[in-house]
Amino acid sequence: MTKIHELPELLANQIAAGEVIERPASVVKELVENAIDANATQVEVVIENSGLDLIKVIDNGQGIDQEEVPLAFVRHATSKIQDRHDLFNIMTLGFRGEALPSIAAVADVTLQTRTQTAETGFLYQVKGGQVAQEGPTAGRFGTIVAVRSLFYNTPARLKYLKKPQTEMSLMVETINHLAMAYPNVALTLSHNGKTLVRTPGNGDLRQVLAVVYDRKTAEKMVAFEGASDHFKVNGYLSLPEQTRSSRSYFAVLVNHRFVKNFSVSNAISTGYGSKLMVGRFPIGAINIELDPLLVDVNVHPQKAEIRLSEEGELTELITQVIADRLRGENLIPAALDNL
Ligand code: ADP
Ligand code: MG
Repeated sequence: MTKIHELPELLANQIAAGEVIERPASVVKELVENAIDANATQVEVVIENSGLDLIKVIDNGQGIDQEEVPLAFVRHATSKIQDRHDLFNIMTLGFRGEALPSIAAVADVTLQTRTQTAETGFLYQVKGGQVAQEGPTAGRFGTIVAVRSLFYNTPARLKYLKKPQTEMSLMVETINHLAMAYPNVALTLSHNGKTLVRTPGNGDLRQVLAVVYDRKTAEKMVAFEGASDHFKVNGYLSLPEQTRSSRSYFAVLVNHRFVKNFSVSNAISTGYGSKLMVGRFPIGAINIELDPLLVDVNVHPQKAEIRLSEEGELTELITQVIADRLRGENLIPAALDNL
């Protein structure tokens, strides 16, 4: 056996990328989350060749100070948390400082950014894990990150990708999830020049649901809301006659993060009770708001799963609110104007 030694930075980043950057949709998720964390109100995602040639995310967020750009590519470097207290009070989508270094370890990355106070933009390019170019550039306010040649140095990962259409639909799904969590952000996604998703960004969740599903489905949905000691919930749900054959059509958003949570999904179905046929599931979206202290988002590499305190209180609330709402008489659907 050889002696224990520390791995070179690029290799360590490649290992981290193995967990965080699984496929093109992971790049889309990480970059759009960064844009949203930078308070962008408009985020445009441009894809070419199912993400293998190009994934570009353009935002109008606060940008990065020139001097800090190289740090953004260092593992565990983040502007989002400082100490242990912050780790248990996560208010942002990112906090581990892993995405940019991971992406740059398995792809070529060009970042262009400009803050409101900067006189020019700044361009920084990492190719083959090395800085290939850096310096001032003309530029609009905000940040553009362009990722090219994804997985050029990890052939196994490339091979394991699904059909281009499947990878593309996973990217659309990722954008849909973020759009439902952030109705106040105008999101667009295009592939080879064709627009696949476009949300208005006016804060209206029902209009986002019209984009994610279709206008008729969204119009027929019913708004609900409720609260208990620790939780506030609200959202839209479909009437029992409008269902699908899988649970995955009811988005669960916890403090604006799309998550998978069986207890919550189950509580939703329980709220419908016998109104649902066996094997049928409702469509909709639920926002769950709670003190970040009560949720651990640091249990999954892609933060797709979370751990909740007071889960019993939450599932009871959800079941109750949904059952009450479906018992109501004025289930008159709203007309959706200006779509
Ligand atoms: P994290 O999001 O966990 O902090 P990342 O590797 O995704 O880690 O990003 C590192 C840092 O780079 C962020 O903390 C942020 O300060 C900065 N950054 C990344 N993307 C953007 C962006 N689109 N706009 C502004 N700042 C960004
Ligand atoms: Mg991030």
